[in-house]
Amino acid sequence: MKPPICAICDSDFDPNEGDLIFFKETAADKIQNERLAQPGFSGHPPNAVWFCARHLPLALRFQDRTLQQALVAIREGLESAPVTPDPENSRLPSDPDQSAGKP
Ligand SMILES: [Zn+2]
Repeated sequence: MKPPICAICDSDFDPNEGDLIFFKETAADKIQNERLAQPGFSGHPPNAVWFCARHLPLALRFQDRTLQQALVAIREGLESAPVTPDPENSRLPSDPDQSAGKP
């Protein structure tokens, strides 16, 4: 298995914060997965990739597609409807800071 690195943003995350998603098998994926199922073979399924917590909801919407189709759809989805930024990281440097660093 591959380490948990998001297929969209390449972020390296804790496995508890994201998930490994299996997409529809292409003909080539099917052959590869049958090979991986044999005793003595090990490896990463070609149609399975990791997504971080931010991109996981979008990835789940396209699980009925192949990996390549899903990645295209997810990227298009991100362009048309950006994922809501994490509130903790969304504050602009120019914003007045009224909470941190003061008693
Ligand atoms: Zn991500």
